[in-house]
Amino acid sequence: MTDENHRALEAALAAFKSRREASSRQVRIDNGALPAGSPMFFYCHSCGVNHATLREDYEVPPPHHCRDCRAMMELTKIVQAAEEAP
Ligand SMILES: [Zn+2]
Repeated sequence: MTDENHRALEAALAAFKSRREASSRQVRIDNGALPAGSPMFFYCHSCGVNHATLREDYEVPPPHHCRDCRAMMELTKIVQAAEEAP
């Protein structure tokens, strides 16, 4: 695989660490503690950023991971697949 993909993955991992550190310093809103009718706050399962805020009666749940983490995961798969290729 190209060095370009490795560099992109390293940059994505560094950005992930920054997001995780920043989100760890922020107070998470407990949806269950909010009054009825309040919006729902969703946090990335990987880095912890609030990546979606929806009406309480939302129909389609947001992804478990934020856009940046999903991109990082895809990049990881690409790099791993390339390293495993003959
Ligand atoms: Zn994330």
